[in-house]
Amino acid sequence: MILSEIADIKQTPQRLAIIEYLESNKVHPSALDVYKAVSERFPTMSFATVYNTLEKLKEKGLLIELSIDTGKKRFDCDTRPHHHLICVKCREIFDVFTDFILELPEDEFHGFDIIGNHVDFYGICKKCKEIEGSDLELNKD
Ligand code: ZN
Ligand code: MN
Repeated sequence: MILSEIADIKQTPQRLAIIEYLESNKVHPSALDVYKAVSERFPTMSFATVYNTLEKLKEKGLLIELSIDTGKKRFDCDTRPHHHLICVKCREIFDVFTDFILELPEDEFHGFDIIGNHVDFYGICKKCKEIEGSDLELNKD
């Protein structure tokens, strides 16, 4: 995200802190995650400020809203085309930048001109596997 691109969004210190957080934490945060992190620096900042800023950035195409996590909206400030891996245990979302050539049979086009695709992979992340592994160890005897 380049600051000049948000020139027509009023740049308050709170808003800049929100943008800074998004840029340096590519963890696909929810609005609440952003609020929790940024309110450490700006304790008086309201959740509405975070929410409205995220909506504005989304409107401008600088932030993508992900529907991959059914529990809550997650945001992605990396607008390059890419896919996602989601951990079904901790809901962490990882980026996948491999291109997939997915052929759709023409009778499935429904009159569309296909311009892209997005693949969501589901699994259990390394961290959760390690925790699971240590649980098994503990439950042994
Ligand atoms: Zn996990
Ligand atoms: Mn992503």
